[in-house]
Amino acid sequence: MSTTESTTKLTLVDTAPPRLALEGITVTFDGVPAVSELTLDVGAGEIVCLLGPSGCGKTTTLRVAAGVERQKRGRVLIDGRLVSEKGNHKPPEARSIGLMFQDFALFPHLTVADNVAFGLRRIATPDQRATLVAEYLARVGLTQYSRKFPHQLSGGEQQRVALARALAPRPRVMLMDEPFSGLDNRLRDEVRDHTLSILKEEGAGVLLVTHDPDEAMRMADRIALMRQGRIVQIGAAYHVYNYPVDREAAGFFSDLNIIHGVVRDRQTNTPFGLFLTPKLVDGADVEIVIRPQHLLIEPDEGTAPEATPAHGMPARGRVVRARFLGSASLIEVAMDHDGSILRANVPHAWLPEQGARIWLSMRRDRCFVFPCVNQSRVAEPYAAE
Ligand code: ATP
Repeated sequence: MSTTESTTKLTLVDTAPPRLALEGITVTFDGVPAVSELTLDVGAGEIVCLLGPSGCGKTTTLRVAAGVERQKRGRVLIDGRLVSEKGNHKPPEARSIGLMFQDFALFPHLTVADNVAFGLRRIATPDQRATLVAEYLARVGLTQYSRKFPHQLSGGEQQRVALARALAPRPRVMLMDEPFSGLDNRLRDEVRDHTLSILKEEGAGVLLVTHDPDEAMRMADRIALMRQGRIVQIGAAYHVYNYPVDREAAGFFSDLNIIHGVVRDRQTNTPFGLFLTPKLVDGADVEIVIRPQHLLIEPDEGTAPEATPAHGMPARGRVVRARFLGSASLIEVAMDHDGSILRANVPHAWLPEQGARIWLSMRRDRCFVFPCVNQSRVAEPYAAE
């Protein structure tokens, strides 16, 4: 191409509205807020998990999206269409949503095929219904079960029927509340992965409620971490895990080790070396937070390992307990400097004797420095110099 030729660059901008938009949703029960000013979008083909402790408002949020709970303030839009605002609420059946709950709620007196056909009775002719039922039973791998009744199926199979039933009307939005929690551990992983691939093929926007961080990390494109009726952080699993907004958010995903310190001259001195804390004022109490898998552990062979920028200064302790966890070992260490117990998780079998002397150091790129609660809540992930 000559230098005088001009090229036209086309930038594709997705102007489609999100499949589901919750705008400023507030719900109160007897004057007590269960959900406060919650705003959230779910795009086509996107899986967003509402994750948080019991009672934080996850189910209530989902129920508002479904139309079985009414918000005090805020709006719900599906595909850009207003389906709920003050004084104007479309019922669930007029929202193009699929629902899946923990107890599946299959009709016990209907066959598998009739259960799947149930949601299609008003929107499809008998021929179309038969085609869709066959298509969705094939998709969940249950074609041969179509004439059986729910009680003749295993828990995992019943869950797949519920998935087929929810998806057959081709909803724009799937709302799922702890859909896998009734399944035993081994089956749960299998059913979850299978469900995930089907949901991705279907392209509906999915809002899934869970209190299980592993499930959220496994399923979600984005995790919305909730606390006391609000979303405190939202992002991809990697982001929410590695850049938590505060200690509680960090602690939702794993155990934490916490080392206390006090800011002096914009830095905080600890037995693991100095941490720069330029945004915190002198005298502020801080918590240096690190997950067990990011502590490094070495046997004490007489000489102290060298301090490095990546790992800071090693601190010494003695093994209190070591446990084999299958894919890792968990080692509890009483620290020499103050007797506190820190937990290190090493990704292999290593079971040092009780009382063995060891050195611990911290992966500096995986430490977080948080002001102690009651001070500013601004978190400052630690950046090694
Ligand atoms: P879990 O994980 O235990 O199901 P959750 O995060 O889904 O909890 P919600 O069920 O949304 O929480 O409940 C949020 C808050 O609202 C809780 O304090 C709960 O007790 C309260 N709540 C929910 N439904 C009602 C109701 N119908 N009447 C009164 N209070 C309610």
